[in-house]
Amino acid sequence: MDFELTEEQRMFAESVRKFAEANLVEGRVKRAHTEGFPFDVAKLMAENGLFGIAIPEKDGGQGGSLMDAVLAIEQVALVCPRSADVIQAGNFGAFRTFAEYANPAQKERYFGPLLRGEAVCSVGMTEPEAGSALTDLKTSCTPDGKGYRLTGGKIFTTNSDEANVFVVYCRFGPGTDGIGSVLVERGMDGFTLGPLNRYMNGETWRPLYFDNVRIEPEQVLLGPGGFKKQMSGFNVERIGNSSRARALGEFAFNLARDHALTRQQFGRPLAEFQGLQWKFAEAKVQLDAAQLLLYRCATRADKLGLPSAMDTAIAKYACNTSGWFAANEAMQVMGGTGYSEDVLVEFCVRKCRGWMIAGGSLEMRRNRIAEGVFGRSFSQRPPRPPRPAAG
Ligand SMILES: Cc1cc2nc3c(=O)[nH]c(=O)nc-3n(C[C@H](O)[C@H](O)[C@H](O)COP(=O)(O)OP(=O)(O)OC[C@H]3O[C@@H](n4cnc5c(N)ncnc54)[C@H](O)[C@@H]3O)c2cc1C
Repeated sequence: MDFELTEEQRMFAESVRKFAEANLVEGRVKRAHTEGFPFDVAKLMAENGLFGIAIPEKDGGQGGSLMDAVLAIEQVALVCPRSADVIQAGNFGAFRTFAEYANPAQKERYFGPLLRGEAVCSVGMTEPEAGSALTDLKTSCTPDGKGYRLTGGKIFTTNSDEANVFVVYCRFGPGTDGIGSVLVERGMDGFTLGPLNRYMNGETWRPLYFDNVRIEPEQVLLGPGGFKKQMSGFNVERIGNSSRARALGEFAFNLARDHALTRQQFGRPLAEFQGLQWKFAEAKVQLDAAQLLLYRCATRADKLGLPSAMDTAIAKYACNTSGWFAANEAMQVMGGTGYSEDVLVEFCVRKCRGWMIAGGSLEMRRNRIAEGVFGRSFSQRPPRPPRPAAG
């Protein structure tokens, strides 16, 4: 067992750090407070080989590993928190699940602009009545000649205001086995977007409405029975969520540490007050532990093909809670300065809070971890009433 990065990984992380410091420091506060997907950053990252890191070279990617993508997102997050969302879009988000299962025609049609940072892809899973209970989703894809008709709606779709292609989870038939996914393009007949909503983290989303949208067979990403595959691919998205949460906690921690060394109260630097030292000690332990769990998950995923559900649940739980803890405590250490919008600590707090809900909430992650511990699944649904006795 070796807890150190390989020489190659260390050099890659350093090169991403240099890129981020040279290009992303300037304007990072404004970037965090500007609405909309930062396509300028996306194009720059794509030009510098930071999009499609774990996508095979034959498909236009960089042919690297998930661990490489984790190193890249961490290094960018530690320099410009908002730009980490761009690395997410180009390596972990909806595009990554799409890339895992796309057929050659779908790759041909969509990959170019997505890998060049000119377009962005969203995932529509959540519905008003299907959040944590995702398999309750109702959006239906019913056969119509050689293709299908899509009817229903989605909420909370990140980047929906800018995306030009959407991976939409839908129902081809009853039960979990009836769930699959289709690709829907902006502007298709019957596909409309509702009013703009804003999350606490500044990101926006619009409800998606599908009214009898014509789906050609080549727009099906995963047909009936595809739900388990879809969720396996989605575990990569969760690793991006986890990496950003932990790294934004570390970003805020670093700012607070520098502040504590220079800010004086009662004639001494804040760093000399034990009550504050212990906040840093606790955050350091949580951040380091979470990083080891994250790296374990990514490294094993590179051997297995995709991250395992159990490893992902553990890593996400640890990264979400440590990132939130570190960012929140950093704000406390920095007092009014940390709470002000001209310092990115408050942004990190808002972002970390959202990741405790997005991508499967902390409670649902704990449910999944408990299943691994006990080696069995626990239905979250009400018990079925007993069958009446025969005769
Ligand atoms: C920042 C952000 C970005 C998002 N981006 C997207 C996106 O791009 N695409 C998309 O489709 N969705 C997206 N979502 C939606 C997200 O996936 C859902 O919010 C999440 O799955 C929870 O669903 P819900 O909000 O309906 O909460 P609910 O499912 O109603 O849950 C409410 C609370 O009850 C808890 N709870 C529910 N069931 C259980 C249980 N069995 N045991 C214990 N506790 C339980 C939950 O953990 C939560 O705390 C995003 C959400 C956020 C916050």
